[in-house]
Amino acid sequence: MTLNLRTDSIAPMLQFLCDLKSGCATASQIADILNHPDYDYEFRRYGAEKHPMVNYFMNLNNIPYSEIPVLRESRPTELKDKHHLWIAALDCPSSFDKLLCKVQSLISGDVLSEVSAMVLAGLPNDISVGVIDVVCTMSIGGSFGYVYDGAFHIDLLRLGIADDMLKGLPLLIAHEAHHVAMMKYESTYVNDFTLEQMFIHSFSCEGLAIKFCNNAEGNFSKSLYSHIPVNAGLDTFTMDYLNGKFEEALGVFENTLSGIRAGKISQDEFWTHYNDYWLNFHADGQQPDETPLLQHSLEYSFGNDLYGAIYDYFGKKTLFDCVRNPEKVLECFYAVSQKMFF
Ligand SMILES: [Zn+2]
Repeated sequence: MTLNLRTDSIAPMLQFLCDLKSGCATASQIADILNHPDYDYEFRRYGAEKHPMVNYFMNLNNIPYSEIPVLRESRPTELKDKHHLWIAALDCPSSFDKLLCKVQSLISGDVLSEVSAMVLAGLPNDISVGVIDVVCTMSIGGSFGYVYDGAFHIDLLRLGIADDMLKGLPLLIAHEAHHVAMMKYESTYVNDFTLEQMFIHSFSCEGLAIKFCNNAEGNFSKSLYSHIPVNAGLDTFTMDYLNGKFEEALGVFENTLSGIRAGKISQDEFWTHYNDYWLNFHADGQQPDETPLLQHSLEYSFGNDLYGAIYDYFGKKTLFDCVRNPEKVLECFYAVSQKMFF
């Protein structure tokens, strides 16, 4: 597995910010930068138009809040919410130069060997991962650490927010690289899954990524490494809260599975339920318009317990047999949970 860090768009963007400060930046200069393949990758992922962003950057220091572009209708304030980060970059472009050097040194040498070892521990033995592109830009969008089109993205602007962000970068890279490798592995068979298989399978993605790359611990699934903290890079309150809901979640999981098997749940109903329950970031009692208390959802913690316990008890061969054949998951999980309790 080779991680290929792509940072070539950053130096011209920092130069543009310097030129903007000194009053000599041009629209064609920023348009050229936004045509860089790494920004192309971002615009494709966000489904955003380039023209409004040329106007945004040319007027970065004095654009009215209401005129900050909307990248995608599903998250209309994402650029507004990070506008202060671009203003900070405009104030001090050199600090991002230094930050980039730190990122480059992290994605090399010993740290990279450790990251690769964690990712490979959580993959089938016969997989050939090859090269994974890590696209690092001063990002136009609000996401941090997203996987798209066989690569993943890191936002240099957000890495500058706090020292902790940089410290957590190796595990973030491992986590996202695990997603990319698994997507590649699954691409040959996952599209043929039934709704029932897809439902069970959906918990393997985040569940195994946090098991192997965040040293996650659940009710059944145990942390793997003694040299890094348990639930590293995950929010402690959130993981404790979600692990405490395991029993309830197992009941919901079994009910949904029965409904799918009995043909009582349509695809649309299923995905609405999945979003509302398994991807919910609100704690019990919170209103939908309140800021969510949780930083992860049950998809993570339940997936860790379901698939992680199978790995702990039966090993890698059985785990990936279950990943490929989701109908075997529950039988294996019940066998583990009964052995642990009785
Ligand atoms: Zn993830």
